[in-house]
Amino acid sequence: MLDNALKLIKDLINHNYKAYIVGGFVRDYLLGRESQDIDVCTNATPKEIKEVFPDSFLPTDDYGSVVVNKYGIRFEITTFRKEFNYDKHRRPIEIEYIDDLYQDLLRRDFTINAICIDENGEIIDFLGGRDDLERKLIRTVGDANERFKQDPLRILRAIRFATILNFQLDNEVNEAIRNYRNLLHDLSYYRKKEELDKMFVSGFAERGIHMLLEYHLDKYLDLDNLSNVENTDSLIGIWSVLNVESHYPFSNNEKEMMKDIREVMRLNNYDPMTLYHYGLYVNSVAGEMKGLDKRKITESYNSLVIHRRQDLDISSEDIMNCMNKEPGEYISDIYDDVEKEVLYHRLSNKKEILLNYICEKYASNS
Ligand code: ATP
Ligand code: MG
Repeated sequence: MLDNALKLIKDLINHNYKAYIVGGFVRDYLLGRESQDIDVCTNATPKEIKEVFPDSFLPTDDYGSVVVNKYGIRFEITTFRKEFNYDKHRRPIEIEYIDDLYQDLLRRDFTINAICIDENGEIIDFLGGRDDLERKLIRTVGDANERFKQDPLRILRAIRFATILNFQLDNEVNEAIRNYRNLLHDLSYYRKKEELDKMFVSGFAERGIHMLLEYHLDKYLDLDNLSNVENTDSLIGIWSVLNVESHYPFSNNEKEMMKDIREVMRLNNYDPMTLYHYGLYVNSVAGEMKGLDKRKITESYNSLVIHRRQDLDISSEDIMNCMNKEPGEYISDIYDDVEKEVLYHRLSNKKEILLNYICEKYASNS
């Protein structure tokens, strides 16, 4: 990955721009960890970057990053900038493109995120990021109070990095979180969710939740159920316990699934009807959070006699013939009944047996 990243920055340098690898990739590279994507900073403006990489995607918002997909890697290229006048602690309302790497590093959140690699593969570390990597410390670039006041999202980022990397928060950071955590109220739920998602899928959700609770951030993030999340690294599972769809953004599909998971939390996840009705995934997520054996749930699911209505050895037509009636709601009622009988092994899934049952129970009553 590094070789390809060096090739990419050389493309910019060959066009007489400055360019460095920066951010998460450098941090993770020095820690021997894998990265998903690579951040690059340059003095080329987005328009100029687009000229060097014609297939790139210009940012949708002003001052965003240009995305280049090359060598199978996603590069986020950001023009050197200075940020000022933060909008009610949300985002900077004024940004100025600049020519200087050092100035650009000063606006970055943490020292460990402000280390660069140049085109020769040399590390550039103006702000002591490597020392902090070694000391396993999350330290802000500049005054922590000031930086969190400017953008309270940095509070969540501090906790995310401490969680994922198993680092400590610097004392100043620790205090500044307590001083400015109330500003989390001002952030959009969209931005908060983005950070929380990353923490919850990291494989260290429990550690992250523990930290959030330690700082009482549940209160400032409107996550009243945070202390009830247990035993899970499932993103959707965590959000279903949090039960915050009324203000945090989710797709309709996700909302539906979280509702199902909450329902299933109260049911027996080995019960054939529960497994059949809600499916394996929802039962596994709920089962895991209840501390049940997921393998057993899967085994129970696999051993169901039927997994969907089509698996029954009868059709709607069979039912209509048997009842000697036009189609109607009764068909679905009969299906429900037969499904249940088959799932609980009271009837075997054989056409003859099912029809016999239906004719006897229903046709004679009608
Ligand atoms: P990862 O990509 O692994 O989640 P990252 O550190 O690369 O972590 P990004 O969101 O990709 O995080 O941001 C890239 C870089 O931009 C960061 O490393 C940091 O230098 C800077 N940055 C991102 N968000 C902020 C912020 N809110 N305030 C200041 N600097 C930021
Ligand atoms: Mg990144």
